[in-house]
Amino acid sequence: MKLSEVFCRMVFTRQCLICSEPISYDKDLPFCHDCEDAWEKFLEIKCPKCGFTAENCACLPENIRKLTKRGAAWCVFYDGGGNNAVNNFVFKFKREYRRDLVDFMSSLIAKNVKALAQRHGIDLKEYVITYAPRRVHTKRREGFDHVRKLALSLSKNLGLAVERCFVNKGILAQKTLNKKERLENARSSYSLRADANVEGKKYLLLDDIITTGATMLASGELLFGAGASDVIPISYAKNIK
Ligand SMILES: [Zn+2]
Ligand SMILES: [Zn+2]
Repeated sequence: MKLSEVFCRMVFTRQCLICSEPISYDKDLPFCHDCEDAWEKFLEIKCPKCGFTAENCACLPENIRKLTKRGAAWCVFYDGGGNNAVNNFVFKFKREYRRDLVDFMSSLIAKNVKALAQRHGIDLKEYVITYAPRRVHTKRREGFDHVRKLALSLSKNLGLAVERCFVNKGILAQKTLNKKERLENARSSYSLRADANVEGKKYLLLDDIITTGATMLASGELLFGAGASDVIPISYAKNIK
């Protein structure tokens, strides 16, 4: 154990990522016993279309099929509304910046991205990470951009660079809109940064929760429109409600 780690253990307690109860440093998963049970059950949820769990489900929303036929990677399924441990976890991820939570999520995403790459014979070393930033209003309110934090953590996990390609001038929250409005809103919200240089590059494009895939489509279209040669959509959760 590194000296810095010994020091951290003396000064800080380790907290469950879902309910913030103190937990032992010896536990493999960063959850208390109750939340670990809830988490394990959550990972067993099957996709209503293909019957696979989130790790292996490759069902793409129609919007994302316009970007790629090959597949996308996400980490957990999410049903958006219920008051259960993992919905709360996904919610907390947006609301509270905790490095251990971000790193845990990014390690799960990295695992699924590597599996996707292996299935399709993709060399991840050819890729850079970019992400759909959250709205300025929300970033100010919450004090951080959870998608950017996740992109930076994923960069360490996968050993790939991160590029800031987009500006988000959106006013409306996607969750308040229907499917058609979401795409219109995403297309009018996102644009490429003036200094973005995407010509010929391959991207892992990170978004937070995939519902209709509108943000992913709008931002992916911008990358392809500026000459990117490939886009792999990735997210931390897919809404299956
Ligand atoms: Zn807990
Ligand atoms: Zn599926």
